[in-house]
Order: sequence, then structure tokens, then C-alpha cells
Amino acid sequence: MENSVSSKCLTCGSTDIVRNITVSQSVEVGSTGLEYRTAVMLIGTEALLADLCTQCGTVLRLHVKNPDRKWITKS
Ligand SMILES: [Zn+2]
Repeated sequence: MENSVSSKCLTCGSTDIVRNITVSQSVEVGSTGLEYRTAVMLIGTEALLADLCTQCGTVLRLHVKNPDRKWITKS
């Protein structure tokens, strides 16, 4: 969607960036992501998306698709 946003790897300077890679873990651990409360007070998980530099392997950015959640924070 936002392919016009130019970004460069801060580590190696490459513009060879793959966007919105889904971050996942093995099945037994469950899903990895940022937790939020759903309407019924269950805990949901918003998938983490990563932008990766394919030249040096640096993850440039971690982000989620829907930032408007009731996020669970440790306080
Ligand atoms: Zn790089």
C-alpha cells in the first residue's frame, strides 16, 4: 500500500527492503504479536509485521496492521 515510502537500511545503506513480513513462531509456542483486549475481554494477538533488509538481515521496523487496540501493557 505504501510502496512510495522510501526507506534505506540504516546498517548497510541498501534499499533492498522487503516489507510486511509476518513474524511467527513455532506452533507449540502460539502466535507472536502484541496483545490487546477484545470486546469480550479476551486477549487477542495482533500479528507483528517486519521490514527486513535482504542485504544484511537487519530488521528495520516492527509494526502492526491495526494500531488502534486496547493494548495490554505491563505497569
Ligand atoms: Zn542492510
